[in-house]
Amino acid sequence: MENIAPALLAWFDQNKRLLPFRTDPSPYHVWVSEIMLQQTRVSAALPYYERFVRELPTIQALAACGEERLHKLWEGLGYYSRVRNLQKAARIVCEQYGGELPADYAALRALPGIGDYTAGAIASISFGQAVPAVDGNVLRVFARLYNDPACVSDPAVRRSFTARVMAHQPADRPGSYNEALMELGALVCLPGGEPLCGQCPLAALCGANRAGTQLALPGKTQPKPRRVEPVAVALVQSPEGWLLQRRPDTGLLAGLWQPVLWENKTFAAPEQMQQALAALGVQTAALWGLPGRAAGAQPLPAAKHVFSHVEWHMGGWCFSAPAQPLPEGFVWASRARLEAEYTLPGAFKAYKKWMLNG
Ligand code: SF4
Repeated sequence: MENIAPALLAWFDQNKRLLPFRTDPSPYHVWVSEIMLQQTRVSAALPYYERFVRELPTIQALAACGEERLHKLWEGLGYYSRVRNLQKAARIVCEQYGGELPADYAALRALPGIGDYTAGAIASISFGQAVPAVDGNVLRVFARLYNDPACVSDPAVRRSFTARVMAHQPADRPGSYNEALMELGALVCLPGGEPLCGQCPLAALCGANRAGTQLALPGKTQPKPRRVEPVAVALVQSPEGWLLQRRPDTGLLAGLWQPVLWENKTFAAPEQMQQALAALGVQTAALWGLPGRAAGAQPLPAAKHVFSHVEWHMGGWCFSAPAQPLPEGFVWASRARLEAEYTLPGAFKAYKKWMLNG
């Protein structure tokens, strides 16, 4: 097992992907990339990353960015709390550290949105510090290397795996070692299918490869079933555009825009939805056909969106409305402003398509 680090680093030096945050691994670049990659594949995240650091090239620029623009830069990546925390942390870094990320694991860990893994990645990759950066890829690689079926969602197991990871970390290249483990997990020791053991630099050392247990590892508990919630959606169009409602500042999809909706609710008939709209202060004129379809009382096509703990099953109706002043938290969004200014989360992708065509 003492050959793990040399074999891994030799493979990494030959096979690593040339990614923009590797060619210029400034603390800011590593930070933004690690936050983006938390729930997004590298190939999907790259265009977002490049646009984000081009438009907000410094921590100061990120700290000063307006909320709508910030959300627009993140639109399509989802999990918007990541970018809100990124900005909160940037503001703290400007106030407390002169606009430079601190070269200290504990100080990084104390910033909003930065957990053990991200603090370890920044501290080791950008500052060369001997700290771990253990994500799901690394846990999977070590569970297989040691042929260890312990459940990796158990915090005590993660701690003991982290100790093993650190026992092999070379003092002269801690960041490269951490990156190499993540890269091996992403490219060779794959999740959800056969790992590519025939191409693995650690195959001769790997317990799971010897025992044929790769697919059973890492050990995991069954995830809890998701809650299913009906969501009633109203698409309302006036001569000034589509009606949007801003979500509250906390909770799911905080601060983002949406069509008017009611969570955990269904309406038996469109008239009931019109009454509910009137109770919010929005008068509607008539039931409308969807853009591109004949007028009439058609329900919206059903749409589903899966969050980590809840599944939204959406449906509703489309209404026309006269131009009218709106209560606070509502706007009419023209097609141009819908494209350029207001960020609708991916949950409403199906309905946004209708709105942009309407
Ligand atoms: S030999 Fe196979 S299971 Fe073992 S670390 Fe390499 S890819 Fe993973």
